[in-house]
Amino acid sequence: MIQITMPLNFLGTVYREIRQSLVDMGEMFDLLEQPSEIADKPGASALKVGGGRVTLDAVEFGYDPERPILKGVSLDVAPGQTVAIVGPSGSGKSTIGRLLFRFYDVGGGALRIDGQDVRDVTQDSLHDAIGVVPQDTVLFNDTIRYNIAYGRDGATEGEVIAAAKSAQIHDFIMGLPQGYDTAVGERGLKLSGGEKQRVGIARTLLKNPPILLLDEATSALDTETEREIQGALRRAGEGRTVLTIAHRLSTIADADRIIVLEDGRIAEQGTHADLLAARGRYWSLWQRQAAEQEDAA
Ligand code: ADP
Ligand code: MG
Repeated sequence: MIQITMPLNFLGTVYREIRQSLVDMGEMFDLLEQPSEIADKPGASALKVGGGRVTLDAVEFGYDPERPILKGVSLDVAPGQTVAIVGPSGSGKSTIGRLLFRFYDVGGGALRIDGQDVRDVTQDSLHDAIGVVPQDTVLFNDTIRYNIAYGRDGATEGEVIAAAKSAQIHDFIMGLPQGYDTAVGERGLKLSGGEKQRVGIARTLLKNPPILLLDEATSALDTETEREIQGALRRAGEGRTVLTIAHRLSTIADADRIIVLEDGRIAEQGTHADLLAARGRYWSLWQRQAAEQEDAA
């Protein structure tokens, strides 16, 4: 197992977030090792954010040109919509998130935010527009206030509290002996998985991004933790465009639209009810997960 020992401040916020959710440690290592080929176009302007419409226009991509991963994926997510992407492991779900962040450029087609090709805007402005909701939030050995405020330089106390409220962690914090001044992390109060994740959500919300990208870890959360964060995520997504890359179907049943990715193409799409009624691939995935959950219980 590769251990990353570089100082944390060497990693930009984006990399920290991405490390937590979009790439595994091995891939992260690769990302840092190889000089990024992705650079801003000369004279690139900042993304002009409107409602946060996300458009994939016949996107083709392969890490290795010989092995296509996405073979013409088109998807239009209207501002404020929640779209979930499901599909077998390795079907390219997380890759869509990485392309949205422009860790790689598409091989064909285009990816746009509010009508602007991600290749035409500065990466800083692109990254500001997208909040990644981490699966595994890293807590610093500092106060809980610091851990949330870290989401945006210069955040005011009021903004930190508002973010904590949206992430449904404010009441918990107020119940701690020292409230927002409570030390957390390895050398402080140890938070549960669900609490840590809500701190992570609050941190992301401080950025106030129009687009939220949620890439679920493959490992199933326990039911308790899942319940803790579902409400927070729902609230966090209000008024934002949400792209959920889902492994657990139970968490996405109320998405506006569910996309089933298979072999680099959209095999099926619709609401949870539509897709169950169709008795196709989604239905099969659903049956399988329901059986697994029963086995686990
Ligand atoms: P999913 O999230 O649907 O499980 P991914 O989008 O992570 O799948 O990966 C899609 C395919 O691309 C997989 O076959 C995976 O092994 C491959 N892949 C992912 N990252 C890289 C990379 N950095 N280099 C080469 N291949 C990769
Ligand atoms: Mg994935």
